[in-house]
Amino acid sequence: MRAVVLRGLRQVVVANVPDPRIEAPTDVIIRVTSAAICGSDLHMYNARTAPAEGMVLGHEPLGVVEETGSAVTAVRKGDRVLVPFNISCGVCFNCARGFTSACLAIDPKSVGGAYGYVGLGTYRGAQAEYLRVPFGDRNCLVMPGTPHDAWEDDFVLLADVFPTGWYANELAGVTAGSTVAVFGAGPVGLLAAYCAVLRSASEIYVVDWIEERLAKALEIGCTPIDFRAGDPVEQIYEARRAGRRLHPGEEKMPGVMCGIEAVGYQAIDWSDPNAENPARVIEDLIRLVNPTGRIGAVGLYVSNDPGGINPHAKRGEFSLSFGKLWEKSLSLGMGQTPVIRFAPQLRDMIVARRAKPSFLVSHRLPLEAAPEAYAMFEQRIDGCTKVILKPELKQGGSS
Ligand code: NAD
Ligand code: ZN
Repeated sequence: MRAVVLRGLRQVVVANVPDPRIEAPTDVIIRVTSAAICGSDLHMYNARTAPAEGMVLGHEPLGVVEETGSAVTAVRKGDRVLVPFNISCGVCFNCARGFTSACLAIDPKSVGGAYGYVGLGTYRGAQAEYLRVPFGDRNCLVMPGTPHDAWEDDFVLLADVFPTGWYANELAGVTAGSTVAVFGAGPVGLLAAYCAVLRSASEIYVVDWIEERLAKALEIGCTPIDFRAGDPVEQIYEARRAGRRLHPGEEKMPGVMCGIEAVGYQAIDWSDPNAENPARVIEDLIRLVNPTGRIGAVGLYVSNDPGGINPHAKRGEFSLSFGKLWEKSLSLGMGQTPVIRFAPQLRDMIVARRAKPSFLVSHRLPLEAAPEAYAMFEQRIDGCTKVILKPELKQGGSS
C-alpha cells in the first residue's frame, strides 16, 4: 500500500510499504478515507523530537472496517469508524480511570501509545491507505453516514483536534460566562476557541500572528489578538478595560479566568518574531490569568528536543515564574488528550448540527500530495489551517 514516510528534516515521501495484517485476534484493519496532518507531526518533520526517520506518519484517521480479528465483537467489516489518536487497551489502571492517553499496556517502553509517533510505541501511522488498529473494539468508534459524505471532514477531526480543543477547555475550567484567552490559532487553538463558544463563554480572545488564522477566529465570534502589534497580555487587558465600569476591587482582575496554551514548545517570542522562546506562552498566561483562574496547556512539550535554543531547552527545561503561579493560586493542567473520553459526545453534537468543526479545514488533498501539503502547513502559507489527506482521491484532484 501507499503511505507517507518521514525521510529526514522537512522531507516526507509517499512510498510503498507492506500492507498491514491482523497480528492479534483483537486487531482491526481499516481502509483510511481521510487522514489529517497535525501540528504534532510538524515537530517530527522539523526534527525537533527524538529521531523519527523511516516512520509512517499520521494519527488522525477516519475509515471503514476492512477486516477484523477473531476476538473482535463491537465492529464489523463495512462499518464506518473513527480511530482516536491514543491507542489504549481499555482495561489497565489508567484506561479504567479514563486516562487512555496514559495506557500502561500498549507499549513496554512508554506510558501511552499513538499511531505514527516517536516515543509512543512502534505503531504504524495513519497517513496511508490502510491502518492496523490494536484492541479494535476499544479503539474504533462507529460513525453514522457513508464515506465522503457531508460529515467526513467533521468526523475526522474527532481523532484528535476537536477533543483536544474540548480537553483544553476542561483543563482551563471554561463554563458559561467564562472569560477565555487562547494562545495559538492553529487547528488546536481555533477548535479550543470554538469549544469555548459551544460552552457559552462570554469573552474569547485568540492570540497568533497568522492573518488567515486570526480571521477564522473572528469568523467564529472570537476577538483576534495579533501579537505583531505588541504584548498580547497588555492588548487583552486593554480590550477588557475598554468601556467597562468595574465593581470595587475588580481592577485587580484585569485578565481572564481561563487560559489555554495551544502553541507548544516551538513558540515564537512576540518581542522578536524571529526568535523562539519555549517558555513565552506559559509565562504570558501566568501574567494574564486572574488570581484563582486555571490554565490548560495542550500544546506539546518534550524532554528531548535536539533543536532546542539552549542546553536546558534541549532537555525540555525552562525557567518559569513559579512563585507568581503559586501566589495567584492558579491551576495548571496539561498533557495528551484522552480522546475517547470526549469523542462520542462531540460526535453527537456534530450529528445534531450543534457543532461543525470542519470550518477549520482549508485543504483536502490526495495522499500523493503529502510532500507539498506538509511544506505548506509548516510554512503556514496559502491560508493553510488544516489539511486532510484523502487516499481515495486521485492525484491532481482536490476539493
Ligand atoms: P500549529 O503549529 O498549526 O499551530 C500553532 C500556532 O501557534 C501557529 O499558528 C503559530 O503561529 C502560533 N504561535 C506561535 N508562537 C505563538 C505565541 N507566542 N503566541 C501565540 N501564538 C503563537 O499546531 P496545532 O495543530 O494547532 O497544534 C498546536 C500544539 O498542540 C502543537 O504543539 C501540537 O503538538 C499540540 N497538540 C497536542 C495535543 C494533545 O493531546 N495535548 C493534540 C494535538 C496537538
Ligand atoms: Zn494530532
